Amino acid sequence: MAHPMRRKDRELTDGAEMDEILDKALVGHLGLCDEGEPYVLPMNFAALKGALYLHSAREGRKLDILKRNSRACFSVQTDMDLVTSPRACGWGMTYRSVLLFGAISPVDSAEEKGEAMTALMKKCAGPDFAHVFTPSELASVTVLRLDWDERTGKARRPA
Ligand SMILES: Cc1cc2nc3c(=O)[nH]c(=O)nc-3n(C[C@H](O)[C@H](O)[C@H](O)COP(=O)(O)OP(=O)(O)OC[C@H]3O[C@@H](n4cnc5c(N)ncnc54)[C@H](O)[C@@H]3O)c2cc1C
Repeated sequence: MAHPMRRKDRELTDGAEMDEILDKALVGHLGLCDEGEPYVLPMNFAALKGALYLHSAREGRKLDILKRNSRACFSVQTDMDLVTSPRACGWGMTYRSVLLFGAISPVDSAEEKGEAMTALMKKCAGPDFAHVFTPSELASVTVLRLDWDERTGKARRPA
């Protein structure tokens, strides 16, 4: 549920800039809730067709959690740099950051899994990456789709 941002001066509302941040960052943090216990994992990801895609092994704790609670928060940061100051309390960081909230679930369709894996690979290996994933390659991974229903952005830009 939307919560007002305390630092309105740092709120980032431009969807195109949020998309750019999601395209630029290679790693984000997936936050899940394991029966009241927070569980946060660093993961690679790719944004595609208005959703966020992740891939993983076919078993493990996060997949066990998702069977019980599919709600997720995904956190992404780019452009981090230290802000220095002669005063300790003047130190900080510049950054651009996006949070996405929504339901995350495994993708069944081999076609959609292939598109997601290709998007992930293009992000890491570059736009020229070309590979048609075989059915057995696709069967060996779990692809997760985060259908976010809310996203917020925040930026502390260089002075
Ligand atoms: C930069 C980066 C990128 C990554 N990208 C991906 C990715 O794209 N896909 C992917 O599947 N995995 C990725 N990983 C690994 C990921 O963070 C998890 O370790 C992995 O997904 C297994 O999660 P799980 O819940 O199935 O682990 P399980 O092995 O089932 O977890 C069991 C226990 O191991 C511990 N554990 C699990 N993961 C970590 C961790 N990363 N650090 C410390 N303790 C841990 C926890 O205490 C957990 O309770 C990445 C890790 C890093 C650092």
